[in-house]
Amino acid sequence: MTDLLIHDATVVTVNRENQILKNGSIRVTDGTISSVEPTDPADRDSTAEHVIDASGKIVIPGLIDAHRHTDFTLVQGLFSELDGSELLKEAFALYHTAEPTLGESFFEAAWELACLRQLTHGVTTVNAMDFTPELGAEAVGESGVRGVIGPELADFVNPASASEQLADARRFIDTYHDSYEGRVTASIAPGGEAGCSRELWEGVAELRADYPDLRLHTHLYDSAEADTMAAGSGADDPLDLLDRYGLLDERTLLTHLLHANRDDARRIADAGAHVLHCPTVYSYFQAGNRTWFPLPALREFDANVVIGLDDPFWFDSWDLIQEAKHARMLSNFQYGAQQWSSYDLLEMLTIDAARALGLDDQIGSLEPGKRADLAIIDVDTPRHQPYSNLPSVLTNSVTAGDVETVVVDGEVLMEERAVRSMDVERVRTAATRERERLQTRTGWETSLAGSTPPKKSILRRVSARPLLRAMRQYGRGVVNQHNW
Ligand SMILES: [Zn+2]
Repeated sequence: MTDLLIHDATVVTVNRENQILKNGSIRVTDGTISSVEPTDPADRDSTAEHVIDASGKIVIPGLIDAHRHTDFTLVQGLFSELDGSELLKEAFALYHTAEPTLGESFFEAAWELACLRQLTHGVTTVNAMDFTPELGAEAVGESGVRGVIGPELADFVNPASASEQLADARRFIDTYHDSYEGRVTASIAPGGEAGCSRELWEGVAELRADYPDLRLHTHLYDSAEADTMAAGSGADDPLDLLDRYGLLDERTLLTHLLHANRDDARRIADAGAHVLHCPTVYSYFQAGNRTWFPLPALREFDANVVIGLDDPFWFDSWDLIQEAKHARMLSNFQYGAQQWSSYDLLEMLTIDAARALGLDDQIGSLEPGKRADLAIIDVDTPRHQPYSNLPSVLTNSVTAGDVETVVVDGEVLMEERAVRSMDVERVRTAATRERERLQTRTGWETSLAGSTPPKKSILRRVSARPLLRAMRQYGRGVVNQHNW
C-alpha cells in the first residue's frame, strides 16, 4: 500500500548513477521510498493515501545542514552590523547572561523558530551543537524534522565544570539518542581546542569509548592560536590533540579549518574524518588572502567536505542553498574558477552530508529502501525558466524561498508552503515575545534603523570567572586582539 505518491516530477535522485528523471514518480510506504520510476499515466489516478502532482517541479533529497548552533536564533539583526571584535564581545556577553536573565523560554522559542525556518527552507536534517540540547531534541522531534544534536562541551566558555558538563552529556545521550522514531540522535560535541581543558578532553575520550556509534563533532583550527591552545592540553597541534585521545577517525566531524594547512588536510583525509565548511562566518571576519579554508588540499587528498550555516547571527542566514553558492564563490575567489561544480554542491548538501553523519544508508538520496526525506521546489517561473542545466539552476538561481513542499520520514511537514507539523502562529508569537524580553532585559536598543548594544561595559555584564578563563585560554588571541 503506497502512503505517498509524487508524480510527474523532475527527480534529482543524487544516487550513485547521478540519475535525473525528467518525468518521475516516487512512492513511499511506511516512511520508506519503495520506488523511483518514470511516471506511469495510471499514477495520475492513483488511490494512494496522499498524492502530489509535481508537474513543473523538481524533487531533491532533503537538504542537510552539517553544522549549526541554534541557541541564539532570536538574536537576528542585533549583531549583523557590528565589526568583528564588537560582535565577539557581544556574543560572549550574551552567552553568559542569556540563561540567568532570560531563562528556558527564550531558548525554547529559539529552537522552535529554528525548526520552522529549517523545514520551510528545505532543510530536513540538522547537525547541531548547542548549550540547550534537551530543548533542541524536543523541538526537533516535535517539529518532524531530523536532527543530530550534540551538547556543546566547553569548560572555558560555559561556567559549569568539565565533570558537570560531561555528566549532563551522558544523561542527554541516554535520554535522547535514537528518540522520536530514530529522527533524533546524539553526538559528542567538544567545542574545540579553544574551549576545552585537558580534563574535559579526557572525559570526552571516555564518552567516545562508551558510545562508539556516535559522531564526534568539534571546531578545529578556527584561530591563528590553534596550536598554542592545543599545547595547553599537552598536544603538538589540534589534530594531534584529537589523535592522542583517540578522537580522530571516520566518525569525526571537523568544522572551520580556517588556519589548517596542506599537511593538516592530508592527515584529516587519511583519518577518514569529515569536514564541515561554513563560509559565511569567515566572510564576516574578512579573512581573505591571509587565511582561508584549504579546499584544494582537501580535494587533492579526497576528504569529504560538506556545508553548514553555523550561528545564525553572522549575516542572519538560513538559506543553505545560498550558503553552498557562497562557498563556491569564495573558493573561486581564493583559488580560481571551477573549484566545485554545481553537482558537487548538490552532493555536498545531500548524500555527502549524510555520509558525514553516518546516515547515508537512510537518507541523502532518493532511492528505494531509504527513508523519504525530500523537498519539492517550484521552478516553473520566469525567474528560473528556461533552463537546461538543472544542477546549475538548483545551486545558482534557486533559493530556500522556492521550496514548496517538504517530506521527512514519509510525513508531509509542509505542502504548497502550508506548514502542517507546527503551529506557525504559536511559534511566531513566542519568538516575538522572547525577542522583546531579550531587548528589555539585556539593554539592547533596537529600531527599524538598526540595533545598538547595551551601554554597560562587558566587564560589568559578565561574571569574572568565565571572562578570566576565556582571557587565559585565548592568550594573544581574540581577547587581546579585539581590545576587550
Ligand atoms: Zn560552530
